[in-house]
Amino acid sequence: MLGLMMAEPLRVAGILEHAAKWHADTEIVARLPEGGIHRYTYAAAHRRAKQLAKALLRLGVAPGDRVGTLAWNTHRHFELYYGVAGIGAVCHTVNPRLFPEQLVYILNHAEDRLLFFDLTFLPLVERLAPICPQVEKWVLLAGPEHLPAQSALPGLCSYEDLLSAERADYAWPLFDENTACSLCYTSGTTDQPKGVLYSHRSTVLHALAACLPDSLGCAALDVIMPVVPMFHVNAWGLPYAAPIVGAKLVLPGAGMDSASLYELFESEGVTFSAGVPTIWLALLQFMREGHRQFSTLRRTVVGGSSCPPALMTAFEDELHVTITHAWGMTETSPLGTGARLTAKHKGLSAAESLPIRAKQGRVVYGVDMKIVDDEGIALPHNGMAFGDLLVRGPWVVRDYFGSGTPGELTADGWFRTGDVATIDPDGYMQITDRSKDVIKSGGEWISSIDLENLAISHPAVAEAAVIGVPSARWAERPLLIVVRRPGLDVSAKELLAFFKGKVARFCEPDAVEFVDQLPHTATGKLLKTQLRKDFAGYAVA
Ligand code: ADP
Repeated sequence: MLGLMMAEPLRVAGILEHAAKWHADTEIVARLPEGGIHRYTYAAAHRRAKQLAKALLRLGVAPGDRVGTLAWNTHRHFELYYGVAGIGAVCHTVNPRLFPEQLVYILNHAEDRLLFFDLTFLPLVERLAPICPQVEKWVLLAGPEHLPAQSALPGLCSYEDLLSAERADYAWPLFDENTACSLCYTSGTTDQPKGVLYSHRSTVLHALAACLPDSLGCAALDVIMPVVPMFHVNAWGLPYAAPIVGAKLVLPGAGMDSASLYELFESEGVTFSAGVPTIWLALLQFMREGHRQFSTLRRTVVGGSSCPPALMTAFEDELHVTITHAWGMTETSPLGTGARLTAKHKGLSAAESLPIRAKQGRVVYGVDMKIVDDEGIALPHNGMAFGDLLVRGPWVVRDYFGSGTPGELTADGWFRTGDVATIDPDGYMQITDRSKDVIKSGGEWISSIDLENLAISHPAVAEAAVIGVPSARWAERPLLIVVRRPGLDVSAKELLAFFKGKVARFCEPDAVEFVDQLPHTATGKLLKTQLRKDFAGYAVA
C-alpha cells in the first residue's frame, strides 16, 4: 500500500522559490570580481534566476545540456546554480585553479555548450576557447561595459545583457527528482578528474542534512560566508542550505586573501563560515600579525583535508572561533561526517575534548560507513583497527559521468572512498591517510596526517607535509618537508627531537627538508604527487 502524501518531486529551484517567498528581504551580499559590493535579496535573486532560465531557453539550452561556469562565489554564480538546474539543465562548476590541460580535459569531457566566466578569467578563456570547440557561447559574468573591445570568443556577450532582455514571468517546470542538476569533477589529487553528476533529489536531501545542528548547523540567525569556492563541491552545499533556513549569505568573490576576507567578515557581520585548512592557516597568521579579533564570527567548518588540532586550539583560544572538523569528498556531495560532541562529553574542557573534535567525526543521517580489510571483511569500531573506508547513501555517487566504466562500488553497493580510517566505539571516524599517501614501513602503516598535525603544532612550523621515501631496509620511511614560520628558525635536528615520545618510534620521520612553499592542488590540498616527484630518489642519510 502506498502512502497518501503529496508526491512533489524535490527540486533545486524549489529551494530558492521558498526563500523568495518566506525570507524575501534576507540579503545576499557579494564582492564583485570587477570591483565593488553587490547587495540584494532572496526575492530579487529569484526574479533574476527566472530571467536567466528564460534566456537559457531562448539560447536553445535543453534539459540535460551542460552549462559550464568558471566563476568565484558571487550572486551571479548563485543565480546560475538555480537558473540552469531549474530548467532541467546541468550546472557544471569548473575549478579555474586547475592546470590548463585538466581544464581542457574537463570542459571537453563534460561537453559544455555554454560557458559563463568571471572577468578575472578572461585571459584564461581566451586561451581555452580554441581548444574547446564544443562551447558555442561564452558569457562574461558582468555588465556590457566590461566586454573587451575585441575578442575571438564565439558568441561572446555579457550576462547582464542576457538577463535584461527577459522578464521574470516564468514558472519552474516539474520533473523527476532524479534528474541531474549539477556536475563537479574531482580535483584530480590522485588521478585524472572524474565527473560526479548530482541529482535534484541528492542535492536537496544533502542540503537539508547540512542544516542539521550536528552537521554544518545553519539557522536563520546566521550570516553565512562560504569561503570554500562554489566550484569546490558546490561550496559544500551552503548555497542551498542558506536559502533553506533563510540565512543571510555573504559571497567573497575573488577576494580570497586574508585581508579581503577579514574585511567582509567584519563589514557584513558574518557569524559562520567554512573552508579548507590552508585558508584558516593563512588567516590565523594575518590575525596574529595585526593583533586582530573577529567581532561576529563564532564558528567555522574545516574540511577537505585534515584540520590540524593546533589550528583548532589557536582559533578557539586566540580568536574565540570554534572550528568543527568535517570530512567529505566530491563523490559524497560532499558532507559525510562532522566532529561535534555528544551528551556524554558534557563537562569536558576544551583541551579534554580536543582529541575527539580533531577526528573527522560521526556520520550525518543519510550516510552510512564502514571500514574493511583487504578481503572486504568489516573491521571493529574500536578506534584502533584501520581499513578502507566505504560509504553509501542517497547523496553518494553511484557511477562517474561519462566514464563508460563502473564506479568505485563494491559488489554489495558501497563506494570505496580511497581513504584509510578508524572508527571508535562512539562512531567517530578518523582518517589515517589516503590509501595512496599512507607510508608502508616494514609491514607497519604510518599515518602521514598524524605526523603533519604534530609538526604543525611546533611554533616555528607554518606548514608541513610528510611523504614516504624509498628505504632498502623498510621499503618506505617518512620524510618531513617543512615551511618555517616567517622570522622563526628551527633546525632539522630540533624538529626530529620534537617527535620523540609523541609518536611510536617507528613512526618518527627519518629526515627533514625545508622549503619556501609547498605545492597545493586546485582545492588547496597538499599536492603529494608533486612532492613525491620532487623528492624522487631521496636518500635518507
Ligand atoms: P580530490 O579527491 O581530487 O582531492 P575531493 O575534494 O573530493 O577531491 O577530496 C576528497 C578527499 O579529501 C577525501 O577522500 C579525503 O582524502 C580528503 N579529505 C576531505 N576531508 C578531510 C578531512 N577532514 N580530513 C582528512 N582528509 C580529508
